[in-house]
Amino acid sequence: MKKLRKLPLAGQIFIALVLAIIVGLLMQNQAAIANNYIKPFGTIFLNLVKFIVVPIVLFSIMAGVVSMKDIRKVGKIGGTAVLYYTLTTACATTIGLVIANLAKGFFPKLATGNLSYTASKAPSLMSTIVNIFPDNFISPMVNNNMLQVIVMALIIGFAIILVGEKAEPAIKAIDVLNEIFMKCMDMILHLSPIGVFCLLCPVIAENGAVVIGSLAKVLLVAYLCFAIHAVVVYSMAVRAAGGLSPLEFFKGMLPAMLFAFSSASSVGTLPLNMECAEKLGASKEVTSFVLPLGATINMDGTAIYQGVCAVFIASCFGINLTFGQMITIVLTATLASIGTAGVPGAGMVMLAMVLQSVGLPVAGIALVAGVDRIFDMGRTTLNITGDASCAIIVSHLQKARAKAKEMAYADC
Ligand code: ASP
Repeated sequence: MKKLRKLPLAGQIFIALVLAIIVGLLMQNQAAIANNYIKPFGTIFLNLVKFIVVPIVLFSIMAGVVSMKDIRKVGKIGGTAVLYYTLTTACATTIGLVIANLAKGFFPKLATGNLSYTASKAPSLMSTIVNIFPDNFISPMVNNNMLQVIVMALIIGFAIILVGEKAEPAIKAIDVLNEIFMKCMDMILHLSPIGVFCLLCPVIAENGAVVIGSLAKVLLVAYLCFAIHAVVVYSMAVRAAGGLSPLEFFKGMLPAMLFAFSSASSVGTLPLNMECAEKLGASKEVTSFVLPLGATINMDGTAIYQGVCAVFIASCFGINLTFGQMITIVLTATLASIGTAGVPGAGMVMLAMVLQSVGLPVAGIALVAGVDRIFDMGRTTLNITGDASCAIIVSHLQKARAKAKEMAYADC
């Protein structure tokens, strides 16, 4: 046991993951036991992680903004991040659509006669924009509404910069609180191997047989797209713009990726993702702003899933998507992923919006709903990896910009 504890966190999480799969497969006939007695401990762990996310985002963004002392710099970092997030998400949907179309013949043709699915209402684009701005000081924190928490932190951070010297005590208080919450996060993250085991084992116990069943091919295509997007797009991006070898990147990201895989929550993975990205060279001022933003608006895995599922559902209904419909899917899946919350299952709700945009029957979601959790584990892993790649790239560009400025001054 002592030896196990000495292992790095990634190793411990990996062992927990393998154990969860083995035990889950052994418990396939006792899924109810796994759900009643193992899952609650996973939920306790996830609750603790969610509890710490709001103060971490709030104080780390405020501390980051205040330390930059320059509102324009914050704008530049935010602008670069949003551009990267949008481009990579559009790229992800395209990969999903192209590969799903190539693999269409390989998909099972499931019966659609008795399908019924009541889609929860997906928010419109305008309401997504309006909802970014909080109308209350407390509710964003109570409801874990990350975009609103980010906006709050930015407004307060900007105000502190503008108030100047008088706000010195507030700056100190924010720094101390930031450190305290980071310590809390560290303590909670030490429990992640147990959390991972307890979250994943019931999922495998319940879905193990289904994975081997009829939807295995669709899952396989989605996971292939996740892997291609990570290996091609992120590898190229971190090498070209982040100055990091892909191998180093994925090795450093392993703890956060394993955690995302087990928890299916980008927001829940946020603290660990910050730690991994910083170890890989991203600066604190960038991770504290870019990662919470990414966990809320950047969902490349979700966009791929929506592309693959749209093609699969269309093929089950005997519909061939036209080129124009594919372009519409790229646009709506990119927008839908911005409106998707970083919590388990949110991507499936937004799939309704994508299907509706090209006139596909929303009831088709029922075809994939049974294994949504398995899709979700893969898409969340990709979602958070994309966020971290962005933090590394933006940090690298920041450093290069600062260096160039220094050299220009030296020349003068
Ligand atoms: N679970 C995903 C995430 O947290 C969102 C989704 O359902 O696609 O990133």
